[in-house]
Amino acid sequence: MQAMVLRKLGTALEWTDLADLHPGPGQIRVKVSACGVCRTDLHVVDGELPDPQLPIIPGHEIVGRIDAIGSGVEGLRIGERVGIPWLGHTCGICRYCAELRENLCDRPLFTGFTRDGGFATATIADARFAFPLGEKGDDVALAPLLCAGLIGWRALVIAGEGKRLGLYGFGAAAHILAQVAVWQGRSVSAFTRPGDVATQDFARSLGAKWAGGSDEMPPEPLDAAIIFATAGELVPISLKAVRKGGRVVCAGIHMSDIPAFPYRLLWEERQLVSVANLTRRDGIDFLRVAREVGVVTQTTRYPLAQANQALADLRAGRYEGAAVLVPS
Ligand SMILES: [Zn+2]
Ligand SMILES: [Zn+2]
Repeated sequence: MQAMVLRKLGTALEWTDLADLHPGPGQIRVKVSACGVCRTDLHVVDGELPDPQLPIIPGHEIVGRIDAIGSGVEGLRIGERVGIPWLGHTCGICRYCAELRENLCDRPLFTGFTRDGGFATATIADARFAFPLGEKGDDVALAPLLCAGLIGWRALVIAGEGKRLGLYGFGAAAHILAQVAVWQGRSVSAFTRPGDVATQDFARSLGAKWAGGSDEMPPEPLDAAIIFATAGELVPISLKAVRKGGRVVCAGIHMSDIPAFPYRLLWEERQLVSVANLTRRDGIDFLRVAREVGVVTQTTRYPLAQANQALADLRAGRYEGAAVLVPS
């Protein structure tokens, strides 16, 4: 197998030939057909997440087909198309696992961060954390659903039922979530970098009622806002944009420091919460909803060997939607 491997934090991934892997008990081997590039991959490469594991193969939006099955795996078959998400393994016994909050597990493994991921021609996964994807839809189009869509979905559920929803940062996650929120009958306001007219147009094309810069206020106060961008200064800005009792959800795994802000922005029962990881239930629910909505993802393909270019383009905001790596 071949993979793009991160050997040292802050350096480019290296194209590497590796011995073929064999699935152990409870595991499957997946021949990767597409793997989305997520902002979290940038955080992994930049060393912005705690306790990194090196060397590591990044990538946690994996679509592929099972080509080997370890002992004790039930309900999956050779040739079946599956998706492998960020949550790669949980302990099953800590208080969070017991409380059905496995997203907060004390001893988790995360795909592409603490276990090898999908910037590769093949990967090994814990079979219990693979989602059967069926045969409908293109591999590349499905890949961004596995994290951008899924974590976005968890953030949307936590944002509550409010009709007026603000999305700060209109990248891979928001471009999927906007479609879901509009389908649910919500009114979406999209906030981009000030002056990023192309992304504002993109947001309107996906059903956003209003789109503007993050330095602008929405036409009406929001019931809830989700922050997908990594800029901490968006926290006080979005608190200002939500109504009394409104909620701001931070959906990213990493954010720059949040500047001090006056208490009156939080006052009147506004809430500020974060979303961490996903549960398998989130995945099952979201993949069903995405099919019902008919979510269409906008993707830019890169050959696997050009993973570094894809990461650079993500960092620079050079495409709308999501980048997806394809082994050639
Ligand atoms: Zn646990
Ligand atoms: Zn991700």
